[in-house]
Amino acid sequence: MNRFSYTRANDVSAALEAHRAPSAPFLAGGTNLVDLIKEGVARPERLVDIRRLPIAAIQPSADGGIEIGALATNSAVAYDERIQSRYPLLSKAILSGASAQIRNVATVGGNLLQRTRCHYFYDTATPCNKRRPGSGCGAMNGVNRIHAILGASEHCIAVHPSDMCVALAALDASVRVTGGEGERVVPFDAFHRLPGDAPHIDTNLRDDEIIVAVTLPAEGFADRYAYVKVRDRASFAFALVSVALALKLDGTRIEAVRCALGGVAHKPWRDRDAEAALRGKTLDATTVRDFASAMMRDARGLPGNAFKIELTARAIERAFEQASGISLAAREDDAS
Ligand code: SF4
Repeated sequence: MNRFSYTRANDVSAALEAHRAPSAPFLAGGTNLVDLIKEGVARPERLVDIRRLPIAAIQPSADGGIEIGALATNSAVAYDERIQSRYPLLSKAILSGASAQIRNVATVGGNLLQRTRCHYFYDTATPCNKRRPGSGCGAMNGVNRIHAILGASEHCIAVHPSDMCVALAALDASVRVTGGEGERVVPFDAFHRLPGDAPHIDTNLRDDEIIVAVTLPAEGFADRYAYVKVRDRASFAFALVSVALALKLDGTRIEAVRCALGGVAHKPWRDRDAEAALRGKTLDATTVRDFASAMMRDARGLPGNAFKIELTARAIERAFEQASGISLAAREDDAS
């Protein structure tokens, strides 16, 4: 049995102070951490319960966007009227994940910090560089159907499991954190890391910091958006591949596009060069297919997951159809 102590913090500074002890993670919704403890993957010496911290509000931000407190539950965010009307992409992505019961307790901060669902990471009898650095990677030559096709390293091919984070990446959110060196704002793209040679480190959050809030910019792409999630079961399953797409059109001319991919990399995947190349082009089957190819140009498949490359390209095409309301197949037929 792993014995640990329990501390409840009532304000952020008390939480940070308690968190300074070795192996003292924050406990919020607990939907991932408690599983990790049960499986013997996490062995905390102290749990710092932060559920009473006053950082759960969803409120307007100074620049016209919305700030979501780190302790806001997934359900509170998904069903907030301002989120539903101004950022429906975020609401849709959240509601495609987990179950209603989990969304009712899981928090925004915890969602950002949840760990991979790689089977080997949870199986303490197998090697895993993320769980035990230097032990090897069981997935590399094992069952790797759910693993990464982009941004992986020879040390780890895990993917980030969140749906919410894929939408936040597409919306250009930012993460407000505070800690020993004061407060700072981290662009969403820079929050999660690729595995490189240190796959045990998932994010750029420092050990002495806590997430305070996630901020959405004023532009929410409420008119044209899509969240396409491909998974093995219709509900309560992680994405094999997901696509969060935010689009602005003038007729069929593309004015702006943001596309984030989930289930394919250690972090939500954006390719800003591919996005920039789309601006000003006419939205048609060829343009979208070329964009999907550009997004996949660095993709590498393993025997178990190579199918994800074509699957992702098709999910991107589906997302453009849903966001634009234009049937790309029909337009291609019309042209022939
Ligand atoms: Fe561990 Fe990453 Fe390999 Fe999975 S893919 S076994 S998390 S090192």
